[in-house]
Amino acid sequence: MCRIANDHEFINQVLGPIAKVDNFTKSLLEVNNTIQREGAAQPIIACINRADYMLDKYGPESLRMRQVEINAIASAMSAHSDRVKHLQEYISNKYDIKLPSEPEFELPVNKSLDLVAGGIIDAFDHYGQPSAYVLLINEEKSINFSDQHMIEVHVHRKRPDIRFKRRRFIDLPQTTRLGPNRELLLDDNQEIGLVYFRFGYDPSNYNFEKAWDLRLLLERSRAIKCPSINFHLSGAKKFQQVLDEPIKLERYLEYDEARKVGNKFCRFWALDSEDFSSTEASKIIKSNPEKLVLKPQREGGGHNIFGSDIGPFLESIHSHMDRSQYILMEYIDSPREKNLILLPNDVRDEHRLGSSDLLVSELGIFGSILADGSSPISNRSAGYLIRSKKFGVNEGGVASGYAGIGNIMLHNSSETNTFPATWYS
Ligand code: ADP
Ligand code: MG
Repeated sequence: MCRIANDHEFINQVLGPIAKVDNFTKSLLEVNNTIQREGAAQPIIACINRADYMLDKYGPESLRMRQVEINAIASAMSAHSDRVKHLQEYISNKYDIKLPSEPEFELPVNKSLDLVAGGIIDAFDHYGQPSAYVLLINEEKSINFSDQHMIEVHVHRKRPDIRFKRRRFIDLPQTTRLGPNRELLLDDNQEIGLVYFRFGYDPSNYNFEKAWDLRLLLERSRAIKCPSINFHLSGAKKFQQVLDEPIKLERYLEYDEARKVGNKFCRFWALDSEDFSSTEASKIIKSNPEKLVLKPQREGGGHNIFGSDIGPFLESIHSHMDRSQYILMEYIDSPREKNLILLPNDVRDEHRLGSSDLLVSELGIFGSILADGSSPISNRSAGYLIRSKKFGVNEGGVASGYAGIGNIMLHNSSETNTFPATWYS
């Protein structure tokens, strides 16, 4: 991701055609190109990311992890995820529920919150001005408040000297400006050392006057940005498609690394051919649509198109340039397991509590990186998020109400790669 972020020629080559038909990509790319032209005031770039995976059937009897996407901006849920293990231990103790025990089974410790807090501390320290602040940019109507606030609290526990300012994106044009050395100043000349974006990943986030001027001002400043605009762009889904094979990954990785990483990837198909109807993608859409997912260059859920909806949707797009903003991805057919997603109202519903759902789960691995241009200063990976959703529901978001947070249980078994005992189709 860091190498993509620093490869401006490649970013323009891959996202340039999409920018011609998608205004959001265009605006992000313009901000990045302006910064590259002017020269960044801050050479240090940061990113707190979450790479998401699902289990996929592999051969008749095996499972393997396949990557769904990488989130390079506003990677959420590290604080809640960290607590699930404690919740499960508390409940099993209170109600005398026997959890499978070690050494055969293990509930691994989850360091997700610590990883994210550590990424913020690293970045803040590299700014080198102890009296500066972390500016956490949040939503207009904050639905992720508790997750964001726990990060602030956790940073405070480790480093009480680091103070946060929490502000809505929409309020910043009036309250931010640049100082004489391109310092980012908030309110009464309070210097910002780190801008931590928990917002700004969706076109709707920029629906106010001067929103793009604001993003440019933040990127032009000397404050470290998490993520910087180029790191943000490196998370575009289009990169998954253009780097979907080991040989393509060799642009950035050694031969062995490229194979290890590429083995986690799904198959992708480009859609920008002028003669689309004769492409392999078009044939699969007709013959096996249930094996496919169509995605635009968007984040945050609710944008993907699945299965038999893909064909009619693409038929309504006549220009190959318009099609280029979408990627076509292989559908990951995850094992279903019997479990129950609890929602607040279920507490009073005995029938619901006695029943079960068929769930599929998605694993997210958190990472934090700080780099001086393309040279990493710190590069860590720790902590995880398990989100489970009902089988057949396409979206996977927790805040959007589709998924619940769960936990991993590791099984120390000599038999690897076999289907779990409970596989329901
Ligand atoms: P977003 O940026 O909106 O989160 P994702 O790529 O994560 O986009 O897709 C949203 C959800 O759709 C995922 O959390 C997952 O549940 C489901 N999904 C995405 N890609 C696939 C796939 N290839 N196979 C199966 N489900 C998928
Ligand atoms: Mg996602």
